[in-house]
Amino acid sequence: MSFKPISDIGEFGLIERISSIVAPTCETKPRLLEGIGDDCAVYELSSSTVQVATTDLLLEQVHFDLLTTPLQHLGSKAISVNVSDICAMNAKPSYALVSIALPSKASVEFVETVYRGMSETATRYNTALAGGDTSASSGGVVISVMVAGEAEKERITYRKGAEPGDLICVTGTLGGAAAGLKVLMREKNIMLEHIKHGEKYDKDVMSNLEEYNDAIRQQLLPSARIDIVEFFHRHDITPTSMIDISDGLASDLAHICKRSGVGAHIEEGRIPILSQARHIADEFQDDAVNYALSGGEDYELLFTLKEEHFSAIASHPDITVIGKITPAEKGLLLSDIYGMNIDLKTIGGFNHFRKKAQG
Ligand code: ADP
Ligand code: MG
Repeated sequence: MSFKPISDIGEFGLIERISSIVAPTCETKPRLLEGIGDDCAVYELSSSTVQVATTDLLLEQVHFDLLTTPLQHLGSKAISVNVSDICAMNAKPSYALVSIALPSKASVEFVETVYRGMSETATRYNTALAGGDTSASSGGVVISVMVAGEAEKERITYRKGAEPGDLICVTGTLGGAAAGLKVLMREKNIMLEHIKHGEKYDKDVMSNLEEYNDAIRQQLLPSARIDIVEFFHRHDITPTSMIDISDGLASDLAHICKRSGVGAHIEEGRIPILSQARHIADEFQDDAVNYALSGGEDYELLFTLKEEHFSAIASHPDITVIGKITPAEKGLLLSDIYGMNIDLKTIGGFNHFRKKAQG
């Protein structure tokens, strides 16, 4: 028997295969309204309420580097990335379970600092840290968080549900997380070079990172957009579909389109890019739009909305309309600033296990 490398099918191909194996377990649960395929699983609690649940892993050297990550920020991010998935369902978080695996060299203070970050951030989201698991790790630090939340059934917003004519909107600015990572990786390499040559790495050799603060903050300390969920509730708006931007705008919009069976047309000139991301892209001779399209980790919300709700969101300073949903046969198009149409499917997003040659 020959074995297929996971890189042949990528992260999403693998999830599809897992999904078909576990499908029978879901079929016996009529109250499970959504299983694999959305930002959260959705379980009906009563005729009017649902519970949503999500889990995300943070692995040392895959998701974070202890050389460039303050521990309190690490704890905070572990909570925020999960709460972001709850927000992507137009729901609010209730409680979290946190599991942690630690190498034997880790100190008590290390763990306490990470948990202080988690606790502070969970408090901000009105979320209880209600349990978890602790283990030794033979490799690096592993943090696994599960967050459960609740919503009224009629407000739940899936990735499916977008229809031709709907407006495509994003919150905040994009590209900051990828730009911040570029700067942090450069700084790490400078640090390692100094260490290699037995030199001191201190304030004198450190770049002045102040001018990159917004981008670095977006990378290390993202915020889940619970404020947007509250805004929707206050204004009685329910988007037709929603996802949080964890893999990059191109890939996450493609998820909405695939699940909804529609196409999309967005305009490059309308994508809100963090201004510091533009400066950083210039420095690295990159294109900041690519940071937004395929960098990921901005944890902003991407949603679609009936045009009649435009007036309700128009005055919100942090919501931008970037395009429109189209029929499926129109595909996924990005009009660049010169008016040329680019197929968004040719622009990848973040994908674990992707073959190096593909990006
Ligand atoms: P997100 O970026 O929103 O966290 P993912 O891309 O990680 O979403 O996952 C997409 C979907 O696949 C989700 O519904 C998630 O629950 C499911 N999924 C991912 N990995 C697994 C797995 N190993 N087993 C079962 N379901 C999974
Ligand atoms: Mg998500």
